[in-house]
Amino acid sequence: KYYNIVEDMKGRIRVFCRIRPMSRTEMGGGGRPAVDCLDEYSVTVETPRGLKEFQFNKVFGGASSQEEVFQDTSRLIQSAIDGFNVCIFAYGQTGSGKTFTMIGDKDLKNPGIMPRAFRKLFEIIQENTSKFDFKVSAYMLELYNDRLLDLFVRPTEASSRKIEIKKDKKGLVFAQGAEIMGARSAEELFALFEHGCANRHIAATKINLESSRSHLIIGITIESTNLTNGSVSHGKLSLVDLAGSERAAKTGAKDDQLKEANSINKSLSALGDVIFALSTEQAHVPYRNNKLTVVMQDSLGGNAKTLMFVNISPSNCNIEETLTSLAYATRVK
Ligand code: ADP
Ligand code: MG
Repeated sequence: KYYNIVEDMKGRIRVFCRIRPMSRTEMGGGGRPAVDCLDEYSVTVETPRGLKEFQFNKVFGGASSQEEVFQDTSRLIQSAIDGFNVCIFAYGQTGSGKTFTMIGDKDLKNPGIMPRAFRKLFEIIQENTSKFDFKVSAYMLELYNDRLLDLFVRPTEASSRKIEIKKDKKGLVFAQGAEIMGARSAEELFALFEHGCANRHIAATKINLESSRSHLIIGITIESTNLTNGSVSHGKLSLVDLAGSERAAKTGAKDDQLKEANSINKSLSALGDVIFALSTEQAHVPYRNNKLTVVMQDSLGGNAKTLMFVNISPSNCNIEETLTSLAYATRVK
């Protein structure tokens, strides 16, 4: 049973699991693979209590390429152009492959979903310029310790700005106080992203923050005007690279690290609670419990199409975190 994710997923959440290959360090340290994909839909984990199996809408093994992963995702780009709120996010412990999946490797020799989505977006736009007028714009935020930072402004300025999440008349979330930049091509959109990354790096260096300890949120809004009848539709593509899910509050964590870890844990549980409420069709969805879920509100539930990646390591050394991640992902499925 293969899901056509576009037709089938409106208002629902799909979960894809991706197992990254064993890393050199894991192999060198005497680690061995303890996670396997049985078929396209199930993962098995060797636990001390025997084999455990988890099912997802799709499972990508260590040999899966970035192209393959994008193939199953790419139709969502059309949905965003068609006026849906599409959200793709990655969950998992630090080092499990979230950034690789969402963005790519360091020098982008293996581009991930984001650069491919940018290209696809403007390809579709090019094909439809005779019938529609498109306006694409983007914002880029970092959420750290419950504070939102605008990555499109210089870090010296960004720290003094207050960003508030508001909803417009159509229910679309927007970040009041944050810069929204227009883009006319995939290259321009990518340049904006790089600009945001540079600011993120400067800000992080100042406070000695690792990128894995904050959430990265990129919002791309697409306004399309039908040239025949003048009707306007608004869609949005949100790409979120979440902070590492590992329980960081180990012994020896200092005050700042504890605060950081608590804030991450709180936001990730709030996200889990929201998705759980949606998938079990509860009347009350606790969006307002955390800034992360407030920012992601229009991308979860309602008219939105949400795709979650749970990224996991294959190594026996990471079994505990892997099981925690898979349990989280199973709960929201
Ligand atoms: P995270 O963002 O979850 O902390 P990364 O995406 O940075 O993890 O991945 C950790 C390392 O593993 C990086 O060097 C990355 O390039 C590599 N990696 C992750 N996933 C894959 C994959 N599917 N294939 C090859 N290398 C990968
Ligand atoms: Mg990362």
